Amino acid sequence: MNKNGLLIVISGPSGVGKGTVIKEVMKDPELNLSYSVSMTTREKREGEQEGVNYYYVSREQFEKTRDEGGLLEWTEFVGNYYGTPLSEIERLRSEGKNALLEIEVEGCRQVKEKVPDALTIFIVPPSLKELENRIRGRRTEAEEIVQQRLAKASKELEMTGQYRYVVCNDDIQLAADIIRVIIRHHMERDF
Ligand code: 5GP
Repeated sequence: MNKNGLLIVISGPSGVGKGTVIKEVMKDPELNLSYSVSMTTREKREGEQEGVNYYYVSREQFEKTRDEGGLLEWTEFVGNYYGTPLSEIERLRSEGKNALLEIEVEGCRQVKEKVPDALTIFIVPPSLKELENRIRGRRTEAEEIVQQRLAKASKELEMTGQYRYVVCNDDIQLAADIIRVIIRHHMERDF
């Protein structure tokens, strides 16, 4: 499946700044990246757009797509479903793009089973305290959800061993530069 381009998985706990780092990384046209838009049942956050951040669907729609084999991977995260539409990945790759998936650890495990040479990168925060500050700073979610996301973050940080690279987001530019170097290195390798 990996003939046309790389399949790149980027994970990291909620609030680590994955989105910001990924936006930076994607500014480099030479990396030929295309962002894989996931399907989710969670509510749209302010500023998010259908088809840009996610495809927002009902639980019934999600389950139907999943049961018909339409997802490369999927998970339930803090009460909502998230999944990568297979058609999305096939489309990107048929266009010769390097597909970039921003997904959590269980999804990464499933991707590795199907695409063993996927390039996997985990972004860590400088500390758990810093992560908590960032999640609270977002002020979009109820305390209960914040607590669930923090608990999930601690668990995810124990799973970094399944990733090929671990990058600390202490500084956005630096983290993005490191990830660009990793991707470029893999683009030049003959798989
Ligand atoms: P958020 O609700 O903050 O947008 O996302 C919550 C978590 O779900 C994040 O860790 C994000 O990386 C992950 N996620 C987003 N899309 C997918 C997906 O398609 N599959 C999986 N497994 N996780 C996803």
